[in-house]
Amino acid sequence: MIQYYRELTRLEMEQIDRERTIVLIPLGALEQHGNQAPLGTDGLIADTMPRYLKEELLAADPDFPMLIFPTIPIGLSTEHKNFCGSVTLKPDTYYHMLYDIGASLAHHGFKKIAFLVCHGGNTPIVQVLSRELRSDFGLYAFILSSGAFSHPDVKATVSPGNIWDFHGGEMETSMVMAIDPSLVKLDTAEAGVPAAFVNNKSLLPYGSVSISWMGEDWKTVEGKPIGIGGDPSGATAEKGEIILRTSARALVQGLLEIRDFSS
Ligand SMILES: [Zn+2]
Repeated sequence: MIQYYRELTRLEMEQIDRERTIVLIPLGALEQHGNQAPLGTDGLIADTMPRYLKEELLAADPDFPMLIFPTIPIGLSTEHKNFCGSVTLKPDTYYHMLYDIGASLAHHGFKKIAFLVCHGGNTPIVQVLSRELRSDFGLYAFILSSGAFSHPDVKATVSPGNIWDFHGGEMETSMVMAIDPSLVKLDTAEAGVPAAFVNNKSLLPYGSVSISWMGEDWKTVEGKPIGIGGDPSGATAEKGEIILRTSARALVQGLLEIRDFSS
């Protein structure tokens, strides 16, 4: 059974098999996503992805044991803090908040939690935290990446020539359009490239030789800091639906293996 954590009564929670049930914790962010997409893009995706996951998981296992935790709407967004509206927790604040959630869940007898990471900037904290939770409480803290951005079906949604599509680009904007098209102002979209890196072969904003980039590193062709990667102008709700659905399907096998995991 898949249910929403906050909808259960205390009595219902007492009856949950907490040793077996996975608590899925969606992790959003509140940060700029360019001119065209809302500050809550990652939080909207974090709210929505569990619904897709629920459908896909119940098709694979009608008794799949999972509770969907409320989305954590703010994360670690240092890289975007200089753009208007971005809100970030400090790394240690974010770590301790998630640690305390994990500690509470462990206190009630849960053994498995799964962080659904919907903002890449949250990942380093979650990686450190997940090991500490396991060490301190014997709590298995799994890490799920919400977007299957390297899946061929997802890559196929990106317009030809849009080679830097990334944060706030065509894919993320499409996902928001699939959730609520009224939230995207596509006529204001500008494209961004990592200007200082575009002629490099090895040193890139990500990969085996990298630097922790700031949003300002992503600029328009005129050199104006824009804070997004790629060109959102080709975004559509149909593409977003493909990305959300494909990304959910890509997580099903992993979640089935989390269900069966013991060490
Ligand atoms: Zn995002």
